[in-house]
Amino acid sequence: MPASWNRLPRVRHRRLIEWQDRTAPLPDAGVPLLARGNGRSHGDACLNNGGTLLLTRGMDRLIAFDRGTGIVDCEAGILLGDLLRWSLPQGWMLPVVPGTQRITVGGAVANDVHGRNHPVAGSFGRHVLDLDLLRSSGGHLRTSSAEYADLFAATIGGLGLTGLITRVRLQMIPVNNDLMLTKGIRFRHLDAFWEINDGLGREWPYTVARIDGVARGRSLGRGWFLAGRHAPPQPAGTHLPRWRDQSRRMPFDMPSALVNRYTVRAVNALYYRAASLRGRHLQHYQSHLFPLDGLRDWNRIYGRRGFYRYQCVLAREQARDGIRILLKRIAASGQGSSLAVVKTFGDLPSPGLLSFPRPGVTLALNFANRGSRTLRLFSDLDDIVSAAGGALYPGQDVRMSVTMFRRGFPQWERFASLVDPAFSSSFWRRMNP
Ligand SMILES: Cc1cc2nc3c(=O)[nH]c(=O)nc-3n(C[C@H](O)[C@H](O)[C@H](O)COP(=O)(O)OP(=O)(O)OC[C@H]3O[C@@H](n4cnc5c(N)ncnc54)[C@H](O)[C@@H]3O)c2cc1C
Repeated sequence: MPASWNRLPRVRHRRLIEWQDRTAPLPDAGVPLLARGNGRSHGDACLNNGGTLLLTRGMDRLIAFDRGTGIVDCEAGILLGDLLRWSLPQGWMLPVVPGTQRITVGGAVANDVHGRNHPVAGSFGRHVLDLDLLRSSGGHLRTSSAEYADLFAATIGGLGLTGLITRVRLQMIPVNNDLMLTKGIRFRHLDAFWEINDGLGREWPYTVARIDGVARGRSLGRGWFLAGRHAPPQPAGTHLPRWRDQSRRMPFDMPSALVNRYTVRAVNALYYRAASLRGRHLQHYQSHLFPLDGLRDWNRIYGRRGFYRYQCVLAREQARDGIRILLKRIAASGQGSSLAVVKTFGDLPSPGLLSFPRPGVTLALNFANRGSRTLRLFSDLDDIVSAAGGALYPGQDVRMSVTMFRRGFPQWERFASLVDPAFSSSFWRRMNP
């Protein structure tokens, strides 16, 4: 049975339909429909309890590519990783990539995903030129900011609720090669983090910080920055880093109890000390941008009970205080959160009505599922996020309240009027009880 990446919540689908033909009509299912990409969301936006899932991975053809302009036309089930392996040797890169390349183009649009380069590139949806949407009434529609503009805006970040995306036309960015210049910088506490964050500037368009989620006291907020930029052409004779897929598979579910404050503290401390994280390097894009893809099925580390992802964005003015208070509360809870990921969002607006990225700072953490203890912690975190003018990421959520959703996404009513009545999801029913 398809599940979300964090294996929560457990649901049962009535029917699964392998979708391969982008010109086929929608089935007359009698129960709500929902498209599914590669199931990399941490929550119930990709689940449809009691309904039908349209499994789109088989709809993965490349339709056209213009080498001169870098415009790619593809079906929605193609994986970002497959597009990259094909486009990079021709000098073109996806303008926005999240922390895994194992997601589909349809999933990237429907969650309007962001990467480490948000301040310079914005979210994925900004680079979509047009997309085809299959609706229960009206059939196939080509939508863009000029045609069916309302539907286009609702579909970007629209959590699959406006219909089935069958085809997407995207603008890529030119690069010299598949290498990145990278820089790692360690910081001992949160003030040092902000100092580096403010100083990095546009010279390093890809930046992410990992913060030790269990460090307390004077070490609160310690961690390291990883900054990167596309490499210039390399002189002949330079030794170039190559990439071979040496990914391993997590072969079994670990006992959930093994992910606890002691093991997490030990792993975080090891990471923090790792010398290889510091200094400048020339790296292959795969190892720099997608380190987690090196361990397939890593979600099994959290065991069968699964885990929660808590991802929020705080408004820029409130981010300094807000992040300090959040980290203090998390450290005090003793719930052994693993490394927290912090990224800055810039001012480039997202085109979607329900898009998560907005000017500010986003913080994402994974927590082992400890039942009501974990949920109690989250309701405290929600209060802090709300007080800081923030919002939670719907695509990575299983438990936010209706009030928090509506407050964080003030265009939800306009969005709701554009939802296809034949489509729904476990998330959407939770938000519309
Ligand atoms: C290791 C890891 C790192 C991540 N890092 C980031 C990050 O840095 N930034 C970020 O934004 N996200 C990140 N994510 C989350 C992930 O990128 C998103 O959840 C993404 O949307 C998953 O895409 P998917 O193809 O797996 O789609 P799914 O998870 O299967 O579905 C996601 C949504 O897309 C809809 N959908 C999928 N295909 C279609 C279609 N053809 N038509 C209509 N709707 C469709 C589904 O209905 C669902 O609502 C990360 C996830 C993991 C596991």
